[in-house]
Amino acid sequence: MTRDPSALNVARRKIELAVAADEQVDVLVIGGGITGVGVALDAASRGLRVTLIEAEDLAFGTSRFSSKLVHGGLRYLATGDIATARESAHERHLLMTAIAPHLIRPLGQLLPFSCGVTFRQRTAGAIGMGMGDLLRMRAHTPRGVLPAPALVSAGTATRLVPALDPRGLRGGMLSYDGQLVDDARLVATVARTAASFAARILTRVRAVALRGDGAAVEETTTGERFEIRARAVVNATGVWAGTLDQAISVRPSRGTHIVLDTADLGTPSTALTIPHEGSISRYVFALPQAYGRVIVGLTDEDSPGAVPRIAQPTEPEIDFLLRSLNRVIAAPIGRDQVRGAFAGLRPLVDSGTDSTADVSRRHLVSASETGFVTVLGGKLTTYRRMAEDAVDLAVQTRGIQAAQSRTASLRLVDRVVPASEELLDDATGLTTAEVEFAVRVEGAMTVDDVLDRRTRIGLVDADRARCHAAVEAVVARTVADLG
Ligand SMILES: Cc1cc2nc3c(=O)[nH]c(=O)nc-3n(C[C@H](O)[C@H](O)[C@H](O)COP(=O)(O)OP(=O)(O)OC[C@H]3O[C@@H](n4cnc5c(N)ncnc54)[C@H](O)[C@@H]3O)c2cc1C
Repeated sequence: MTRDPSALNVARRKIELAVAADEQVDVLVIGGGITGVGVALDAASRGLRVTLIEAEDLAFGTSRFSSKLVHGGLRYLATGDIATARESAHERHLLMTAIAPHLIRPLGQLLPFSCGVTFRQRTAGAIGMGMGDLLRMRAHTPRGVLPAPALVSAGTATRLVPALDPRGLRGGMLSYDGQLVDDARLVATVARTAASFAARILTRVRAVALRGDGAAVEETTTGERFEIRARAVVNATGVWAGTLDQAISVRPSRGTHIVLDTADLGTPSTALTIPHEGSISRYVFALPQAYGRVIVGLTDEDSPGAVPRIAQPTEPEIDFLLRSLNRVIAAPIGRDQVRGAFAGLRPLVDSGTDSTADVSRRHLVSASETGFVTVLGGKLTTYRRMAEDAVDLAVQTRGIQAAQSRTASLRLVDRVVPASEELLDDATGLTTAEVEFAVRVEGAMTVDDVLDRRTRIGLVDADRARCHAAVEAVVARTVADLG
């Protein structure tokens, strides 16, 4: 077994699973999305003994289907929610300067002054970007980390986003926000950092019922059921939170992105920000990604009823995203150029408003009648604060002595993949070493874990099909080697 204390793999899982039923831990965390791994890290780094269980794989739920932005909360200002906006800007500052500068880069976002963007939308966008810069200043984020917004000429705008329609283009407004290398990568890295503080991270273990002092659980590969005893329990299961805590009402809202080839947009170096037709507060974004892709999103659709295992994008959503993009580019993108599409469910707290777009993005932390804590809502950007609040309430509710949270200045572990020239796939640049690292260090157990969550090759069906057999062989070999 590798000596890296942050390494997650089948060998470590086997040892930790074997003792999970025998020992009482301080904190049991349910859910391995960004919120759950954040809670595990917060608690473990305070010196508490922690077990996290995840029914499927790390980042299986909403956390891998985001826009991958670490944002400063500008949209919350538009709804008058100043506290959430400030919290976002503050957490973005911590993430970009202290916690995860190696996982986040500044991303330019261009609001083009195109024919399809009205004077009112240009003015509102420019004022908003100025206010966003005030939030940055208030959070003390240096300009070297996030440059100031600026008006740019039509020439600069088309250089940044070559696909823009030059006819009638009057330049644009360029501003900056944080972009994650990948959202699922953030989850795996926070989980590994928690593991480096001896947290047990057990995937494929589902909570069946929660109490204040533990949970009935099932190991999903064997169906074996057992109890885990804990002094405190935190339910961080996102859109599934209501299935374990009947007092919680979740209102899932579906957000869809489509995946395009970056070449179809002239390989843009910045993101494109396009106002919804007739709106001054809602936007469609085209965001450059790894593997030569751009993702275009996003929608905000009420998604009532039973929560699906994996949400599916709808054709009307795909059509809406293409129409929005095509309003400002010279050569319209057709449906046949869409390489993939994905949808995630926002775990919004039900506040009884008409539209999910109006539901608060602030998080909820509450203690159930039986004494476990549920943490819900928020967003990737604010995971650290959500985790701190959840652990504070859990230790207070259960009378556990614990130090203050120290995650505000705790840097996440690095991801140093051993260098290897051996390519598994030319088109995406996937290497054998990357797949081995996913299995040896990042807790991947199956080919799907690697394709869909440790890398994002699976977002394009054709790429997934091409890589599947080769990745499967490396996973099998590496798992066998770990014993
Ligand atoms: C389309 C979209 C775009 C977004 N873009 C951004 C963005 O750009 N920036 C940003 O900051 N935020 C963004 N968000 C918000 C952010 O993605 C979510 O708030 C966040 O990922 C929620 O994480 P979570 O850990 O609470 O839930 P999840 O990621 O869903 O994790 C919950 C986990 O619990 C597990 N689970 C469920 N039931 C059980 C059980 N019984 N036992 C054990 N495990 C269980 C699930 O398998 C899952 O892995 C976006 C959201 C959406 C939908």
